[in-house]
Amino acid sequence: MSDTPRPVALVTGGSRGIGRAVVEALARDGHDVALCYQSRSQAAALAEKAAQEHGANTLAARVDVTDRDQVRTFTAHVEDTLGPVTTLVTAAGIVRDSNLATLTDDDWDAVVRTNLDGTYNFARALVFPMMKRRRGTVITLSSVAARGQAGQTNYSASKAGIIGFTQALAKEGGRAGLRANTVAPGFITTDMTGQLTEKYVKDMTRSIPLGRFGQPEEVAELVAFLASDRAAYITGQVLSIDGGLVV
Ligand code: NAP
Repeated sequence: MSDTPRPVALVTGGSRGIGRAVVEALARDGHDVALCYQSRSQAAALAEKAAQEHGANTLAARVDVTDRDQVRTFTAHVEDTLGPVTTLVTAAGIVRDSNLATLTDDDWDAVVRTNLDGTYNFARALVFPMMKRRRGTVITLSSVAARGQAGQTNYSASKAGIIGFTQALAKEGGRAGLRANTVAPGFITTDMTGQLTEKYVKDMTRSIPLGRFGQPEEVAELVAFLASDRAAYITGQVLSIDGGLVV
């Protein structure tokens, strides 16, 4: 067995869906993995178990990504316990869909705070130490909805904001050895898209050239590639994974 310490990844929203698949892919690729979640501790425990089966040390905690104090305490604890974080994946996200005319202030705030502020909060806590060590990569989760999806002004704004944030970070951090990229999935089969009506899913599937929704594991493969040295010359990019929905 090698004595080289495993690199450490931190995945927000790692209990379910895309984040959960990322936890497993990064563990398989040799990372120790920390993850946070909002409330589903049983799902988080299963994600940890899956990562441990790949030989990873793990740490899971209930951390609200919108709460800066919780985020700072958690990231410090992860670095004390597992070691310096070299890969950050911000997968925690929510939708609260409604046309703007009927959107509540709460639904605007919740989506922007979780998706955009949550991304900022984790990057803010971890990027400076990564740059000091001249080693780190940040992978954020945007969406095809960043182009503007009717009924999702809040979600679209948060996901477009994530693209600008990530590209600015790539420009700031490149010379300090930091890479930052964003992954923009189309329709992926998770609890989030489980909320869509059967008719909407059918109509949408017809407009996807590959004729199906994607799987979380397919998105996780792209994230794992971006986290690896095979992607050493890729930064500041938005990588779509949507079955050809946006071409
Ligand atoms: P999901 O299955 O609904 O899982 C959401 C995850 O985020 C869960 O782990 C949840 O924790 C966590 N979370 C939510 N709010 C949080 C908070 N305030 N603090 C900490 N954790 C929080 O979602 P998904 O479909 O995998 O989506 C993952 C990411 O991909 C999101 O950013 C989403 O916007 C993006 N995306 C998804 C799709 C898609 O089709 N599914 C398409 C484009 C982009 P609990 O388990 O404890 O609730």
